Amino acid sequence: MKLKLKLKLLLSFFLFFFLACSKETPDRINDYDLQALASLDWGEETTFVIGHKNPDTDATCSAICYAYLMRQLGYNVEARVPGEVNNETAFVLDWFNTETPEIMNDASGKRIILTDHSEAVQAVNGIEEARILQIIDHHGLGSIVEANPLFIKTMPVGSTCTVIYYSFKDYQVELIPPYAGLLLSALISDTNNITSSTTTDLDRTAYQELLALSGISDIDLYYQNMQAAASSYFGMNDVEIFLSDYKDYSDISGYNIGVTCVNSRTDNHNDICTRMLAVMPQILTDNGRDMVFAIVINVQDEYTDILYYGEGAKAAAESAFGQSSNNRIRVQGMMSRKKDFIPKITEVFQQK
Ligand code: MN
Ligand code: MN
Repeated sequence: MKLKLKLKLLLSFFLFFFLACSKETPDRINDYDLQALASLDWGEETTFVIGHKNPDTDATCSAICYAYLMRQLGYNVEARVPGEVNNETAFVLDWFNTETPEIMNDASGKRIILTDHSEAVQAVNGIEEARILQIIDHHGLGSIVEANPLFIKTMPVGSTCTVIYYSFKDYQVELIPPYAGLLLSALISDTNNITSSTTTDLDRTAYQELLALSGISDIDLYYQNMQAAASSYFGMNDVEIFLSDYKDYSDISGYNIGVTCVNSRTDNHNDICTRMLAVMPQILTDNGRDMVFAIVINVQDEYTDILYYGEGAKAAAESAFGQSSNNRIRVQGMMSRKKDFIPKITEVFQQK
């Protein structure tokens, strides 16, 4: 009996040892990926990683981090953007002391790696004349055409940066702070801080490790700051802000009006209101309106100030929405132009 038990123990020891060794299998699979990357026709010149037009944080950070990953694997790769980055992305890059990639206006004749898209209309100009080496994405497959062999990795996860996080793991390249922070920022940007319906367990796992590496102590506050940057309209002049979500409405019971919607936050709400009021006379003249209105929504505290300008605008706005003070009518909640403002103001005009 005792000998049998010893034999059993010995057997299970060998079995354990064997299983422990066979755990190496995933690494061998990843070696295949590395060999496939090595088989690409890299050419002599620099290859560029680039996200979609109107670049967002995921498109930009994925390009920066994937270019770094490729460089760590020994390839001559740099990141580019197809246009100016938005204020949220600028905030993120600034936070992690990372330079904004150079703008690329024409990709023709170049070797390109696409991130965060595979749709031709979203791609940098000249993509038809470029050589696409790789596509790294988390969307459905788009209309990009490439005649030569290429490497594609797309996963059904919350962000392209999640895909790239797992590539760092697969290729055993160490994730160092600036890149970990950029991957994390893109992940929370695309998933509403890990709350969107597109968030997967792979995203949540990546989030935990990236958060630990990023040096961010209060992720909710950091995410709030990202959102604040997105609605700061920094670098835009007052007319540009006014026109960014402006619509004309003609002949509402004989009146031609213009209405804009602007989002604000508690720290810039009054400033935005003052700036919008200042440009309303010019907007009225330029667009041939009888009256113009601005719906300024504080998305943080969830209230709305309605601003008005033009002959009869004050009376119309007051009878629709209540008493004004300092050229504003304060309404609780976040007002919708389509569902709240237009029906009520139309009713007032009809009564006249
Ligand atoms: Mn995107
Ligand atoms: Mn994305």
